[in-house]
Amino acid sequence: MKTRILILGAGFGGLELSTSLSEALGDSIDVTLIDKSDGFVFGFAKLDLLFGRVGSEQAIRHPYADYAKTGVRLLKETITAIDPVAKRVTTDQGLHTCDILVVALGADYDVTTTPGVVLGRNEFYSVPGAAHLATVLPRFQGGNVVVGICGAPYKCPPAPSECALMLHDYLERRGLRGNSTITLVNPLSSPVPPSPETSVALMKAFAERGIVFMGATRIASVDKAGNRVLLDNGNSLPCDLFMGVPKNRAADVVVDSGMTENGWVPVDPRTLQTKYDGVFAVGDLANTGAPKAGVFAEGAARAVAANLISRLRGEPETAKNPGFGSCYIEFGADRIGRVEVDFFSGPKPTGTYYGVSEALRVDKKLFGSTRRQRWFGTAS
Ligand SMILES: Cc1cc2nc3c(=O)[nH]c(=O)nc-3n(C[C@H](O)[C@H](O)[C@H](O)COP(=O)(O)OP(=O)(O)OC[C@H]3O[C@@H](n4cnc5c(N)ncnc54)[C@H](O)[C@@H]3O)c2cc1C
Repeated sequence: MKTRILILGAGFGGLELSTSLSEALGDSIDVTLIDKSDGFVFGFAKLDLLFGRVGSEQAIRHPYADYAKTGVRLLKETITAIDPVAKRVTTDQGLHTCDILVVALGADYDVTTTPGVVLGRNEFYSVPGAAHLATVLPRFQGGNVVVGICGAPYKCPPAPSECALMLHDYLERRGLRGNSTITLVNPLSSPVPPSPETSVALMKAFAERGIVFMGATRIASVDKAGNRVLLDNGNSLPCDLFMGVPKNRAADVVVDSGMTENGWVPVDPRTLQTKYDGVFAVGDLANTGAPKAGVFAEGAARAVAANLISRLRGEPETAKNPGFGSCYIEFGADRIGRVEVDFFSGPKPTGTYYGVSEALRVDKKLFGSTRRQRWFGTAS
């Protein structure tokens, strides 16, 4: 009988895992991949949507209908319960059982502890939120803008800095920068703590553009009526336009399964094995100590795939999650830098910064198109 592998979530982690398994094992295994959405969206595409580089949600969503891999069934279902002991998953369509379970459901957003932050309205981390703020920006006539983070850890640590820099350009283009302030409120002490060089480059870019960086501070609440945001240190800031990053945490269905501790799924950072036999957690929901970003989800997925392939071939499982990844950083005006971070090689995380260049602009495009080609067979 074929080994049944059930992968929950067709995001960065789930797509890479199922593709790697299909490439190596074809239809000698039985892989089921479940996602509630119609298609996959790259995180960075939300900034394109927010600032009008693309006109619609459809333009950034890569339809799952284009995903066709030998040995893999992709089902559009919503997962409602996970039993990691029995390796049994309930969805809105029925029940699934398996031999190996991989949970790759990403990070969800929690606004319950940040009054005034409303999903799909004043945050840019969800697709509806980025789409809505894209309709608010053209009506904005200048004032105090706060790009504010409601808690750490959050997905893609450089993304709020990118948002502030792209916003500067946007307001300049509209002739509104002179009568606007931009403040970036970040619970981290610097924009990219593992890479001091990257943080210095970003702080320099902020200083040149008059963007205020307020580190080691998070948003406590947003008072729309009073046009202010309240900070966790008790101070407040004037705010005519709030562009938020909601608190991130594992989805309720994962919390309810009993798999989480302090909001995330504990795993062996190198193998992604959970405390349940034959159950792995990959991507943003897994607490590996590395950042929550697509490149890290992808690296983890490749390690799990390599070990599962070895297991099925009766070979030793030697693959390790590298905890290493490279993120492109938008400095505005289509200028792209890059940071490479390594979380597991040394006693503490290290980072290397690559300054803005034309080559990196091309590289970033290639980053998206190679994944589209690999997962969906289409580079555009
Ligand atoms: C603004 C922004 C910019 C970013 N920029 C970058 C970047 O430049 N580089 C980078 O590497 N990362 C970036 N990221 C982060 C990146 O998007 C995530 O870290 C990455 O997608 C995580 O992969 P994942 O597989 O863990 O989860 P996801 O890709 O989020 O996939 C999870 C999947 O699970 C599905 N799902 C969830 N709940 C259910 C359910 N109950 N039933 C069925 N399906 C469900 C979802 O529909 C989703 O498809 C950015 C994120 C944001 C918000």
